[in-house]
Amino acid sequence: MKRSMLSFGISGMILVLFLSSNFSISVFSNQQNQSFAESFTFGSDFISNPVTNADSVNLTILYINDWHGWLEPHDGRGGAATYMGYFKQEGYDSLNDSYLILNGGDENTGPAVATLTKGEAMMDVMNTMNFTASVIGNHEFDYGIEWMNYRQNTSNFPLLSCNIFDNGTTDLANFTIPWVVQEHAGIHVGIVGLTTTATETAAHPKYTQYYDFGDYETALRANIPAMREAGAEVIIVLTHIVPDELITLASAVSDLEVSLFLGGHGGTPQVTSIAGSLVVMAGHYAQQYARIDLKVDIASNPKIVLGSSASLIENIEGGVTPDSEVQQVVDYWVNLVGADEVISYASSPIYDPSPESGIGNIIADGMLDYFNWTHDFSFTNRGGGIRDYFRAGEITIGDVVSVVPFENNILEITIAGHELLDVLHYGHGYNSIGNIRYNYSYDGGFHLTSAMINISGTFEPILYSNYYTGLMIDYMWWVIWKDQFPAVDTGILYRDAAIHYISKISDISLIAYDGRIQEGVSVISEYNQTFLLVFIPLSMMVLGYLQRYRKRRKLCV
Ligand SMILES: [Zn+2]
Repeated sequence: MKRSMLSFGISGMILVLFLSSNFSISVFSNQQNQSFAESFTFGSDFISNPVTNADSVNLTILYINDWHGWLEPHDGRGGAATYMGYFKQEGYDSLNDSYLILNGGDENTGPAVATLTKGEAMMDVMNTMNFTASVIGNHEFDYGIEWMNYRQNTSNFPLLSCNIFDNGTTDLANFTIPWVVQEHAGIHVGIVGLTTTATETAAHPKYTQYYDFGDYETALRANIPAMREAGAEVIIVLTHIVPDELITLASAVSDLEVSLFLGGHGGTPQVTSIAGSLVVMAGHYAQQYARIDLKVDIASNPKIVLGSSASLIENIEGGVTPDSEVQQVVDYWVNLVGADEVISYASSPIYDPSPESGIGNIIADGMLDYFNWTHDFSFTNRGGGIRDYFRAGEITIGDVVSVVPFENNILEITIAGHELLDVLHYGHGYNSIGNIRYNYSYDGGFHLTSAMINISGTFEPILYSNYYTGLMIDYMWWVIWKDQFPAVDTGILYRDAAIHYISKISDISLIAYDGRIQEGVSVISEYNQTFLLVFIPLSMMVLGYLQRYRKRRKLCV
């Protein structure tokens, strides 16, 4: 039975809490981590003697997840060259095979350098950085299945996942490699990949519809024994799975003696210990990375992990000398893409609040503008569909790509008024809309209190039985509305429409918000809406007429 010790670092404090006779949490200063750090150590003898000795070797894992193409720093943090600068400061040497660089998925879809090169720049930089392995995240599907095969064949390191199957079968998808066993510092390290089951809808269904994303525990139980058979002495589970799910999984498969679970796909960056395994997730956009050390006893047979430690380290621009070799590769791609053409200006920052998103309004209007405002409405998705914000100042093509990096086409749809009201109702908080205004209320449930559509310059009630023709991005249609109404692909990328529209506006901050979605004061059912929207104006007209009639009568008297 290993002894356990947890260490969480918050600078300037020393505190030791004894939870039980063999379990403790300590908080201590960590000079390495400049603004925030969390560290965790498992195995008390490793704390006092972290250096490799004759009977043990140290494996160091440098880990990043949800990078999303941010090869350059983002808001003062991140950037590949800075990242490598920190690695080297940590002692990383590409010739020393005791270091593993692992990626927890979603390397794709972000700024222009990644998006406009369809991941090519990422691959080149990651090859230069000598990554050891990566796992398939949901956004690895963004460029389609052919890309996945291309990526697998072109990269110097494998793209792993053991739980993606052809529909209705137990056949692993042909673009994935389930696991690898590699020798590092004389230790056979087995790395197995797992992809979030949310990928089915968290990536474009036109690609994911042909695959099943299998149960995590079943997949590990099917693969880890085979990895052991192949000689794996240390097991690392490299995933694109949120920490909560990963913690449950780590507990469920404690008998498989996994040394390390690495997570991604969102959630709070963290290091924790579950049943003898470390569970680690770093921050997104390479703003933070994790360092994990595993001390392995090489005298024992089979070799066992004596102790482990992990810390989260901020990747601060200017905090370290950027690595010149990596910087050169990044610069090459940034210059090649040339997305720094200024197309507009923002007098103040524009964000993505719910339910009315300033960015979403601009994108939705851009869709309508691209087709000369000949459609009745437009829908795009905010939240997950918007990946950055517009900073005050000049707006470049690259800025727009960072905000809407997805390869989503604009579809044309013709739907009845009641279907349009359904889209508004069920998409509240997720949709951004063009040419529509609506009010809503909550009384424990959500209610549309009014919904108006711009018909030839005048906002009129949306009528149940009227048909309207509008625009919707294809991701929304595939995920939610595909079985409800048909659509025709215009072949136009919504991002191109946004660039086209924004380039016509001199200050996009002035058009970002117009109150098209507002909380109403009264609660009425949308099923009564048409009636009320017609009944109330009619009633007002009748009352007005009666008043005028009574006044006339008084005057006559
Ligand atoms: Zn993800």
